[in-house]
Amino acid sequence: MTENIDRFGRRITYLRISVTDRCNFRCIYCMPASGVSWQPHAEILRYEEIIRVVRAAATLGIRKVRLTGGEPLVRDGIVDLVASISDISGIEEITLTTNGTLLPHYAKDLAHAGLARVNISLDTLRPDRFRQITRLGSLNDTLAGIRAAQEAGLVPIKLNAVVMRGINDDEVADLAAMTKDNFQVRFIEWMPIGTSNVDFGSRFVPGDEVRAHIEESLGSLEPLREEGPARVYRLSRFPQGGQIGFISTFSSPFCATCNRIRLTADGKLRPCLLSPIEIDVKAPLRAGATDEEIRRLVLSGIERKPLAHGVASDVPRNREMSQIGG
Ligand code: SAM
Ligand code: SF4
Repeated sequence: MTENIDRFGRRITYLRISVTDRCNFRCIYCMPASGVSWQPHAEILRYEEIIRVVRAAATLGIRKVRLTGGEPLVRDGIVDLVASISDISGIEEITLTTNGTLLPHYAKDLAHAGLARVNISLDTLRPDRFRQITRLGSLNDTLAGIRAAQEAGLVPIKLNAVVMRGINDDEVADLAAMTKDNFQVRFIEWMPIGTSNVDFGSRFVPGDEVRAHIEESLGSLEPLREEGPARVYRLSRFPQGGQIGFISTFSSPFCATCNRIRLTADGKLRPCLLSPIEIDVKAPLRAGATDEEIRRLVLSGIERKPLAHGVASDVPRNREMSQIGG
């Protein structure tokens, strides 16, 4: 058996790393408004520890790394981390998911360090709503970040929108229309992770409903392909434009083709975002584990990947999204 093929025949090539649980926003679907208890710095993996895990993962067939969080750009030294990961033999692509606010400062350096592309969260184009959803953010700052990423060549940029009924579901066509400027816009189903999603039941919008709404407003969507978790389409009216992806975690689960494992900010391998299974790598790293021992731990993360996640009501609430890495 090839080592990066799990018990169900899926080839695991993609590692998502939460580099911090901290953030300069408090998005309503991701964090509570106040009283977030950040993990102590000593509990967060140091960069050299992350690099050892990535090296081990690369020997097992991991080819793509995404840095996320929390907000990955609030952690000092992130550019150096990108440079170090891009030097690891076997890693073919490094990407980053961000709220964009610090990209004007970092985009060029990240590109020089080897970052390929960015995904930027953008749930609304209305400044007042942006503030309501992010609680601390400003739309202008994120738009400046998007421009900075374009100028630095971190393209194609994917814009991630979590759709919430009664909050931003009336904007899906406006967001979808951004594909005319070559953005890829991805509509993500809200997941009830952590403590912040008190009214998930009434706010959840299934991907098919978003798709129907876009087609009513902007005309037909041509199906193009499945790309990881996303079903990807293009608006027929913008044949040269960017693409629209639907990540419909609950209404159309993508478990059968899931190729990812995760590393939490505090050093746990998490084979599935929506399953509570975790494998501690931090304690072994700090107890002097050899490279071979770390490699075996990553392998056990691949081996323990569950076949599928449950329904929304079964999602474990033991962790905030920002700790696991969305
Ligand atoms: N701070 C960065 C950002 O917002 O892009 C990276 C971390 S954030 C946790 C990663 C992605 O997870 C974002 O696109 C965000 O919209 C998404 N996300 C966070 N909480 C979510 C939830 N409860 N359901 C669905 N997506 C969520
Ligand atoms: Fe921060 Fe991203 Fe979570 Fe928003 S979604 S609170 S920007 S980590």
